[in-house]
Amino acid sequence: MNYLKIRISLFFVLLIIFVQAKQDSLNYQIDLSKAKENTFVVKLNYKSNHTGVEDFMISKWTPGYYQVLDFDKNISNIKCNNSKNEAKDITKFTDNTWRIATKKGEELTITYEVNAKTNFIAKPYIDSEFAFVRPTGVFIFPASDLQVSSKVKFINNPWKNITTSLKKINNSYNAVNIDDLLDSPILIGNLNILDSFQVKGKNHYFSGRQLDDFDTKDFIISVKKIVETATDIMQDIPYDDYSFISIGKGNGGIEQTNSTALTFNGELYNTPQGKQKLLNFITHEYFHHFNVKRIRPVELGPFNYSGINRTNSLWVSEGLNVYYEGIIMNRANLKSREQMLNEWTGMINRFESNEGKHFQTLAESSAHTWEDGPFGIKGKTISFYEKGPLVGMLLDLTIRHNTQNKKSLDDVMRKLYYIYYKSENRGFIENEVKKACEEFAKQDLSEIFSYIYTLEPINYNKYFEFAGLKVNSTTKNGKTVYEISALAKTNSLQKDINKDLFR
Ligand SMILES: [Zn+2]
Repeated sequence: MNYLKIRISLFFVLLIIFVQAKQDSLNYQIDLSKAKENTFVVKLNYKSNHTGVEDFMISKWTPGYYQVLDFDKNISNIKCNNSKNEAKDITKFTDNTWRIATKKGEELTITYEVNAKTNFIAKPYIDSEFAFVRPTGVFIFPASDLQVSSKVKFINNPWKNITTSLKKINNSYNAVNIDDLLDSPILIGNLNILDSFQVKGKNHYFSGRQLDDFDTKDFIISVKKIVETATDIMQDIPYDDYSFISIGKGNGGIEQTNSTALTFNGELYNTPQGKQKLLNFITHEYFHHFNVKRIRPVELGPFNYSGINRTNSLWVSEGLNVYYEGIIMNRANLKSREQMLNEWTGMINRFESNEGKHFQTLAESSAHTWEDGPFGIKGKTISFYEKGPLVGMLLDLTIRHNTQNKKSLDDVMRKLYYIYYKSENRGFIENEVKKACEEFAKQDLSEIFSYIYTLEPINYNKYFEFAGLKVNSTTKNGKTVYEISALAKTNSLQKDINKDLFR
């Protein structure tokens, strides 16, 4: 073939791919006119790609919040029409699917309403002030085809701004597949938009509702430092752009691949303690785009949207994320050495004062979070947010001690990221974390891993000594209190590790 023929052929191949993609896409229209009634009215146009039956499903949960949310219960008035506007049967098939008989090429229009009256970050919400499209609770999609692309449009929108990490083309927001659609919340309202900033050539946006009266310029400088430090640790910045999306005051945030949706109390930034709390939270949510969205347990992606996704490894995805809050903030000069040591003391005391430590292992707290709730049941179970970072400390201290402080837990995180996410494009299996830690520590780490899989009490002093520290406990009136202090005599390695961990 000559050059022209190749070009013409290529053109037709691209045209076919384009037409194919177009035929396959889901077109959602969200009508916001029933905001006062806390209702989204959704219309979905879809051309069926096979003859037989087509099941449309809605997710049972929101990735990042490991609880069954039964979004199907909020769907009502579901109807289906063909292109001649004739009604077609649509029947509930399972608790989160609806079944329609279809012919290949048939155009379907499915309409339904979503009741969205609980203002919570893992759920969709709409009222007369704003709308938050938490996609898992709003979009039904063909159960048999998670690769289908989609377009989202809004009508009767009374508000000024729409913010999302979805790509905007003309008037629609576009997702390449169902994972992308469900991973991209959309906030609509009259929003405050803070100054955007660039890190390593990538744009970062911060916008939201009622951001409050605080020094937003200084805040953005802090957030930029967090992004710079986190991406320095991982030596990569994997997205095109990143959005911080705040739905207003409240509790909680959820991570996505290229964004985080969170609640935000800006006035916290006006006091030193509040500032620490706020920036810890921002750091946590931001670092999740590496840890859990990209470095992930194999059970957490590709997701099963129809039920529980049980994993033993939330001590990595959440626990080590808490550990890295302090590490990142300290290296970014946003947390002092004293503040960091105080937080470590707090973490030890919180875990040790919970009787649940005698009844549930760290791995079990992860696997059973679907039943025990996100933070566990105080006195009966434990929280991976509390014990996970403690194990992170022991691992980091051991790797540093065994390598003359040349390697650290950062190397483990990078290995998990570059091997399992970037090179093999998969989640890690449980034992691969232990293997990676042992590779850098150059020793068997069964003792530290016994703190994950058994109820063995943690021997803090054995490990804290590596940084020239000790953990004292005193018991008064039956209550044991732990304190971290410096050892009287330390060698140069202990000093180096101490200086490196608490800058
Ligand atoms: Zn988290």
